[in-house]
Amino acid sequence: MTVSAFAELGLTERLLHALKDARYDTPTPIQSQAIPLLLEGADLLGIAQTGTGKTAAFTLPLLDNLEDDGVKAKPRSTRALILAPTRELALQISDSIKTYSRHMPISQTVVMGGVGHRPQIDALRRGVDILIATPGRLLDLINQRHVSLAECEYLIIDEADRMFDMGFIRDVRKIVAMLPNERQTLLFSATMPAEIARLAGEILYEPERVEIASKTVAVERIEQSVHHIEKAAKRDTLVKLLQAPDLSKVIVFTRTKRGADQVVKRLSRDGVDSDALHGNKSQNARQRALDKFRKGRLRVLVATDIAARGIDVDDISHVINYELPNEPESYVHRIGRTARAGAGGIAISFCDTSERKQLRSIEKLIKRPLTVVGDVPPEPAGQGEKKGKDAARQPNPHARKRNRRTRRAHKRAA
Ligand code: AMP
Repeated sequence: MTVSAFAELGLTERLLHALKDARYDTPTPIQSQAIPLLLEGADLLGIAQTGTGKTAAFTLPLLDNLEDDGVKAKPRSTRALILAPTRELALQISDSIKTYSRHMPISQTVVMGGVGHRPQIDALRRGVDILIATPGRLLDLINQRHVSLAECEYLIIDEADRMFDMGFIRDVRKIVAMLPNERQTLLFSATMPAEIARLAGEILYEPERVEIASKTVAVERIEQSVHHIEKAAKRDTLVKLLQAPDLSKVIVFTRTKRGADQVVKRLSRDGVDSDALHGNKSQNARQRALDKFRKGRLRVLVATDIAARGIDVDDISHVINYELPNEPESYVHRIGRTARAGAGGIAISFCDTSERKQLRSIEKLIKRPLTVVGDVPPEPAGQGEKKGKDAARQPNPHARKRNRRTRRAHKRAA
């Protein structure tokens, strides 16, 4: 993807120009999901941590919308308010806005505790397009009539869970009550404690929800096992595994689109409802399958590596590698989808005799062997390697080495 990927989200030329200056090539998942919704004026509940690109996800559409509105801020008034729990975050947001709005005539100012009132009062006198504020100082300035929120049509609350931890929620409620009802409201939080869910319910109007799982999952935290089984036994093993209720949200990976379709068909014959996600399906069909899976109405999603790229679904209980990927890195990407922020997950792989080579590459990459479940059948000599016609008839120089590995694998299983 290139900068045009940002253009596809519907952002104005001036913002695209600024993004190019900032060398942003590709929207992050939260950006590609949230920006189109926000440009349309939806309210949004964003569950995402710092580092996901959430600041650009809310500031880019805000800038676009403000420019579209084409009105000017009135004296001692603001058109948009961004609330942040700390000064550091407020300044960081202000910096981001500076970067993205460099080709736009948009004014902004920060009001926060710990610094003198006077410069902030002066900055507000003529009115600002965007006000970034910590709650306490903002309330002070409102009470002293240095600024009014009566004309403020955009409200963004960032890091709401930290606001709550720092005891600001009452102040936030007071502030929200001063805004017009006719407004766009966004609430971002890394976690969703009951108090924040309640606040979101009170202040958001039919919100869209975008949730981005943390990407900092360590492979070590994932329980990884391998079943050495023949190709023909994979289907039965999968069905048997799926009988356990703790496999509540499962992605099954295949190497090919055809393979994915076959797994879906076979599961269906065994009474297991699943859907395939791959490049031959229309965008709509993929979106439908994904939505069902995300909402928990589909328990098993069968996917190829490429189709699964960029999917963010929380609560995936198990990843099953029905076929091992050719690239060991793909294995790491696959299994990273189970396990959420900080928590462990479970990955189960099937390995037939033709896939032993892939298994070895994976174990080399992750620097540890997978836990073997059941027996390891001996590997037929010459299997799993690309062979020319002649090579098949000649003694294979690697056969001994592989048998040694197989024995070792047997020992691990015992
Ligand atoms: P945030 O999660 O908003 O704190 O952003 C984390 C960092 O990622 C910031 O330094 C941003 O400048 C940077 N960033 C955000 N979006 C992108 C993008 N699409 N491409 C490159 N960098 C980005």
